[in-house]
Parts: sequence; C-alpha cells; structure tokens
Amino acid sequence: MADKFIYKCIDCGKEYSGKEIMYLCPDCALQNTANMPPKGVLKVIYDYNGIPLVRHNGGTTLNHLFEKKQIDLLPVEKLKSLPKLRVGNTPLYRIKKLNSKKLPFRLFLKDDSQNPTFSFKDRASAVVSGFAKEKKIKTIVAASTGNAGSSLAGICASQNQKAIIMVPESAPLAKLTQIIMYGAAIIPVKGTYDDAFDLSIKATEKYGWYNRNTAFNPLTIEGKKTVSFEIYHQIRRSKHLPDRIFVPVGDGVIISGVYKGLEDMLKLGIINELPTVVAVQAEGSNNLIRNITGNAFNIKPSNTIADSISVDIPRNFYMAKQFIEKYNGEYLTVSDNEILNASKILSENTGIFAEPAAATAFAGLLNYMNNGKTEKKSNNVVLLTGSGLKDLKSVQPVIEIPDAVKPDINSLENFLNSQKL
Ligand SMILES: *Cc1c(COP(=O)(O)O)cnc(C)c1O
Repeated sequence: MADKFIYKCIDCGKEYSGKEIMYLCPDCALQNTANMPPKGVLKVIYDYNGIPLVRHNGGTTLNHLFEKKQIDLLPVEKLKSLPKLRVGNTPLYRIKKLNSKKLPFRLFLKDDSQNPTFSFKDRASAVVSGFAKEKKIKTIVAASTGNAGSSLAGICASQNQKAIIMVPESAPLAKLTQIIMYGAAIIPVKGTYDDAFDLSIKATEKYGWYNRNTAFNPLTIEGKKTVSFEIYHQIRRSKHLPDRIFVPVGDGVIISGVYKGLEDMLKLGIINELPTVVAVQAEGSNNLIRNITGNAFNIKPSNTIADSISVDIPRNFYMAKQFIEKYNGEYLTVSDNEILNASKILSENTGIFAEPAAATAFAGLLNYMNNGKTEKKSNNVVLLTGSGLKDLKSVQPVIEIPDAVKPDINSLENFLNSQKL
C-alpha cells in the first residue's frame, strides 16, 4: 500500500517515507547547536489528489471531511486508534458585547480549555498516542514544563499506555499534580527545560520509547491543525469566514498547527485564501516575534506570568517564521498587565476563565480593538488554549478575597454597603 503521507523537511526539502518513525530531518539535525532553534523540523504531506473529497467543492468537502471524522487528513490508519476521550470538537462561541457595549465586529472564542486535560495540547497528544498504538509502542516520553506533560499523561491513561514525563525541577504545582494523578512516571530533572528535553531524546534512543516532544515529533502539528478545520466548520454555520485568528505563541507549534490546517484546506480547495493569523506573544517573552525579521537569532531571557508561552529558544521558530512570511501573518506583543486585564475582562464577560497564556491571545484582540484595527463586521476568532484553573497564582494580583462577615443581617448590610453591591 502507498504511504498515507510522507515527511518533508522544511529546511532542505528532502522527503522521507511515512512508514518510518521520524523526528528531525537527519541531515539538517547535524547542524543544530545548543543556543539556536533546531533546523530540520518535518512537515507531514498527504497525497491531496488521492483524497476523494477533492471532487466535492467548498462546504461539501468540509462536511465530508467531518462525516469521516477527519481521518483522511490524520497520520493514523484507523479512528479507533485515537483516545475515547473527547479531544477537540470544542465550542466556538459568538460574543456580541464586551463591558455592556455592542461590538461593531464579530468576535468568536474557540474554547480549547474544554479538552480532557484542560488544554489545547490534547489535540497533539491524541494523535501521537494513536500513532504509537498502531506501531505497538507502549511507552511515550515527553519533556515538558506543564501542559504538554499533563496532557500526555492524561491521554496515555485513557489509552492504556505508559507516559514518562521529564520536568525541570521548578515546574508549577497544578500541572505536576495532574501528571502524577494520571499515573504517569514523573522524572524531575536537575536543570532547565532544555536539559530535560535533551535527556528525553537520549532516553528515546536508548530505550526505544516514543517521543512526543514539541517540534521534534512532527505528528504533534497534525493534531494541532484540527482546530482550523473545526473553526471553519463551526463558523460556516453562521455563514461567515474568519478574517483573523488570534493565537498565543511560545515555541510556535500551535500557530504552525493552525497554519497547517489552513494550508491543508487550501490544497484541497476547501478554501481559496487564508485568513490573517495574528501571533501574540508576551512582551517579556517575545523571542519568536522579535527574531522574525533580521538574520541573526538573538535570545532575550524570558520573564512573563504566562508560563505556557515563556520560551527562550522557540523550538518551532523556522516553521512558524516560514508560515507567517508566506501567508502575511501579523504579530504583536502584550504586557503582563494587558494579559491580566484581558483575563479578568474575558472571565467577567463570557464565563470563560483562561490561563494567562490563553488570555494573551484575547489581550491581542483587545489591543487590536483599542487601536481601531478590528474593521466593522470583520470576523475575529480568538484561540483560548488552556484553563485558568491550571494557574491560580498569576491572577491573584487582580482579585481580592474579602474578609468573612458575621452571620447576621446588620453585618451583611454593612458589607453590602462597603462593597457597593
Ligand atoms: C503550549 C501552549 C501555548 C503555546 O504553544 P506553542 O506551540 O508553544 O507556541 C499557548 N497556550 C497554552 C495554554 C499552551 O499550553
């Protein structure tokens, strides 16, 4: 049987069979050094002409893709290899007002905190886990500072696979707790995320485990791209097409996944042009955006409350840069203050409590809105990538828990007056 897909190196263009387990392009990987983003990330390419749904046009094709649960565009053979948990298929909400003011443009929120382990990362873990199942590999390893690890742990628990998560010593408590509750083997590593990353790769070589590391395993992007299919499928029901999609960016894998989904749809003729993808980073961790222009890559040490996008060396820098340049993407940074405010505005107005990294994308939208860059009637989608319950500490500066009230009506009355309720 012909390969369902092949791998293509984004740097040298070499192609490799989809039957093998592949990570980075072996030739390009030889040039990689410790203080630069890795070269040789592979892109999964399907035989687009061989996919029967190209004969349909436009919406029909997309509906057809969803009737078949996207299997034609996933790097697994069978749907039943994927977890039974509901991964993806998250809600897209239309928001008409913010702070009681009607919005002159259309705002849609894609709420990916509704995934099984409460972050977008489940989309990638599900595909990696499904592929491992088909290859009869029982153990999957990942280096992670949080969401990727807790996601892999949860997905593997549901698939009867063993997850091994290597974390830097300093990883945050909520995410560590998830990893352990899901029964994964947790290996705290003395050192940084990069040290854990390198160790996990050595362990992969030595013990034959499968590796889920971001921008190392090319299948993670195939999971992440499904969000673009869903956004188009959902927004079309309201007869609109997105003009802009706001995406929070750390390593640049989610944004590349969003673009890959759009590019697949372009190749299949489902869409004729891409929306503008807006990359949003934290001011204190802008290593991807800052290095898009210019030739040399300079690292500025990261410092932001948005831990999931706090990244010194963006692992998928080159692919994200290629996509942004090819499809005229836009980008901006927002301050930690803007992120905290956005988080509060989002929660109060919509009932969606997002973690700071996710609120960063919403802060990007607010920044555009306040600068008159959201045209009248334009369709703007914000990708909310993780739940606020994963990081309670960061938002403490914008909340205040009041002192307890004596249980009598006078005390209550005084309290109500003091709070202007
Ligand atoms: C991982 C993550 C991101 C950023 O994704 P990258 O691929 O690193 O750019 C954003 N938000 C949340 C909640 C995440 O877990």
